[in-house]
Amino acid sequence: MPGVTIKGLTKRYGDVAALEGLDLRVEPGELVSLLGPSGCGKTTTLRLLAGFLQPEAGEIWVGDRCLSSPTRVIPPERRRMAMIFQSYALWPHMTVAQNIAYGLRLKPGVPKAAREARVKEMLKVVQLDGYGSRYPGELSGGQQQRVAVARALVVEPEILLLDEPLSNLDANLREEMRFEIRRLHETFAITTLYVTHDQAEAMVISDRVAVLHRGRVVQVGTAEDLFQHPRTRFVAEFIGRTNLVDAIAAEPGVVTRGALRLRVAVTGLKPGAPVVVSIRPHEIRLVARGQPPSPDPNVLAGVVQRASYLGDAVDYQVRVNGSDVALRVTAPPPAVFRSGETVTLALAPEACVPLTEAETP
Ligand code: ATP
Repeated sequence: MPGVTIKGLTKRYGDVAALEGLDLRVEPGELVSLLGPSGCGKTTTLRLLAGFLQPEAGEIWVGDRCLSSPTRVIPPERRRMAMIFQSYALWPHMTVAQNIAYGLRLKPGVPKAAREARVKEMLKVVQLDGYGSRYPGELSGGQQQRVAVARALVVEPEILLLDEPLSNLDANLREEMRFEIRRLHETFAITTLYVTHDQAEAMVISDRVAVLHRGRVVQVGTAEDLFQHPRTRFVAEFIGRTNLVDAIAAEPGVVTRGALRLRVAVTGLKPGAPVVVSIRPHEIRLVARGQPPSPDPNVLAGVVQRASYLGDAVDYQVRVNGSDVALRVTAPPPAVFRSGETVTLALAPEACVPLTEAETP
């Protein structure tokens, strides 16, 4: 089972630079999501991988085979890859079984009996036993996507490419199918690249997530790693909600902004240097005035500006006294603080994460 290496991949459409030197390594058997906002280059990366486009610069390797470079492009049918699209792309005039068998029929040397046995097996794998003689028009969206998955897996590709495969499904089904795709990945362990702009989907499905911004990979890591240790402002804001405080390093482990003084997660900051600190709203505790003092080293006084009850949480906005900083705080219900109330905010240094990299231009 080979992995994928992408080096310096660059693709332009006229004046638009869709990819600008994209680097990524996907380990054998790993599922990596390409996550980013609209227009960041996710689909272009997948199309270059599939062989539908040729790069201006850079290379794509699968194991020790170079599939793509400015001088050499292996055609899609010789890449040993299968792709699953948002639109399912099933043949409407073929039954489910015929759709799944389609790729196998193009493969030389697979006898009819073996083909039928493989199709039956795949129907079972995607939980569509007994649906083989139906037509795609007689299936729900989720069932059609299962057929598309079966059709991709039946040819035993080396690499699986998925382009927003769940975005046509309703919210409940989308959530269910995330677990299904993860289950199938754990069963077959095919090296997979998965394009999505849905952060939760990427976090549930992937071994690692590659965050794309303006045609480059800006950070790669596990969902937990990206959430807890974002390196740039873009990643901190894109992966979950956060508060960003533009501050100045006062000591190696302390930053300030006006009267606001925070002990942070790292030491080694250069005094006087500008530092952006990311603080997740759920990491801040609100304590009523007069309650016992918090053991946290960062204890700030503030005034609640807004309290919004969201059912499973309460979303507060609290202005820190003596500064222009307003922090979002997520607390478990019920809503115990009201707008205008004075509160104490308590947060551990580990909750204050200085971003270590400047934004790419
Ligand atoms: P989305 O989530 O909206 O699908 P994406 O991250 O997949 O976005 P791409 O489709 O890869 O983004 O597009 C990257 C950039 O290249 C965008 O600025 C887009 O407008 C541009 N682009 C893509 N395809 C073409 C094309 N055929 N001709 C001109 N520009 C294109």
